[in-house]
Amino acid sequence: MTSLFPALTDDPDGRAALRFGDRSLTYAQLASAAAAVGERIRGAGRVAVWATPSLETAVAVVGVLLAGAAAVPLNPRSGEKELGHILSDSEPALLLAAPGDELPPAVGGLARIDVDVRATAEPVAADPDDGDPALIVYTSGTTGPPKGAVIPRRAITSTLDALADAWQWTGADVLVHGLPLFHVHGLVLGVLGPLRRGGSLRHLGRFDTDGVARELTDGATMLFGVPTMYHRIAEALPGDPALAEALAGARLLVSGSAALPVHDHERIAAATGRRVIERYGMTETLMNTSVRADGEARAGTVGVPLPGVELRLVEEDGTPLTAYDGESVGEIQVRGPNLFTAYLNRPDATAAAFTAGGWFRTGDMAVRDPDGYVRIVGRKATDLIKSGGYKIGAGEIENALLEHPGVREAAVTGEPDADLGERVVAWIVPADAQAPPSAEELAGHVAARLAPHKRPRVVRYLDALPRNDMGKIMKRALPS
Ligand code: ATP
Ligand code: MG
Repeated sequence: MTSLFPALTDDPDGRAALRFGDRSLTYAQLASAAAAVGERIRGAGRVAVWATPSLETAVAVVGVLLAGAAAVPLNPRSGEKELGHILSDSEPALLLAAPGDELPPAVGGLARIDVDVRATAEPVAADPDDGDPALIVYTSGTTGPPKGAVIPRRAITSTLDALADAWQWTGADVLVHGLPLFHVHGLVLGVLGPLRRGGSLRHLGRFDTDGVARELTDGATMLFGVPTMYHRIAEALPGDPALAEALAGARLLVSGSAALPVHDHERIAAATGRRVIERYGMTETLMNTSVRADGEARAGTVGVPLPGVELRLVEEDGTPLTAYDGESVGEIQVRGPNLFTAYLNRPDATAAAFTAGGWFRTGDMAVRDPDGYVRIVGRKATDLIKSGGYKIGAGEIENALLEHPGVREAAVTGEPDADLGERVVAWIVPADAQAPPSAEELAGHVAARLAPHKRPRVVRYLDALPRNDMGKIMKRALPS
């Protein structure tokens, strides 16, 4: 067995491993509190964690992992129906929560154990295999009901060590973020990541740009965020020189979970001199690609495959693309130690997700630039529009629309068209609801930047786009 957190036993110089708001734990305290969790869950296979952004959640998950069991993080903001589905699907033996957490009726049937972050205990002996499940994480539910991905221990160690290589991430790094802890971004990268390196995490509790500025000024070296957070940073920068200065001094700014709009990337670069780097991953695969810390950060690309990850683009008929021409679009398929083992209770979905050769079909479409950089075009299911004999990616049209000063948010979809097969539809949240840019204006704007056949044929105006808890646009929830 590979140890997940070598630093827990080394206790690097007694400094804070984790800080949430004004509460923190050193490595030695974390090791003790996690051991106490292990003692109390002894014998349990799967343990649900009420994953609020708190020290308790971090201690609970580390305790479960060290005890050789698997953690099922629950989104405290899930509705009753979703929680009920996740619990009956994953059948945890018990639930870990923070003292004082109020739990909804859906979890009422589960034995509850409160996590005491000041508890002390000796570690329980456990010798799990690298292939044993470590986490069962439910996908974001962007394209359908969430599926439980069974993530083995080796996926966590391999992805975190590959990121350490790509990002030159060490124990000297102090990470700041305000990500939720029930998805792999916040939990695996954002909590287990610093712990595996022997570094520190300062969690903001709730993301806000003041907290980012404060922590980066006060010694934090890395920022992780989803695109909606970087959008808020881009919006705040013109009026907030302290934020610009703080970001300029950071070692690494990383975005993931969805595409970072080029417009936001460029605005942040112009105001701070720093380019946000993008990485691409999924619940099922953890991380696949990233722009490297020592590589060139470019807007609109997710970089190169991480060490140990095999990646190919595959045409609809199953033929792998060989050209890196920046134009040929194929589905991203990946293989490597970073992959999940199965969707829980879904042998059908699991079988459908893999090719005979063991490649995982991500459902994401991309092109590769001549230097190997991967550019995601969008999801096969919702972002690829077949119009007038062309295959058009929604992402580049969304990027073009976002550059229009009258557009605050944009989503592009296809809908059936007698003539074209499908027509391009733009869903727009205008910057000024009283004076939205006209459909002709937006069509002309896109045609001038991209190509005439990519212009939206229909423009629909909304007050807000439907988004999930990660800020991802839920295209299936757009009004039909
Ligand atoms: P579901 O599978 O339930 O529909 P989901 O795919 O959104 O939800 P996640 O596993 O959280 O659930 O998200 C993975 C997806 O997020 C990827 O397949 C990809 O579409 C998108 N994604 C992640 N990072 C990036 C990125 N840097 N650029 C573009 N897309 C990204
Ligand atoms: Mg998915």
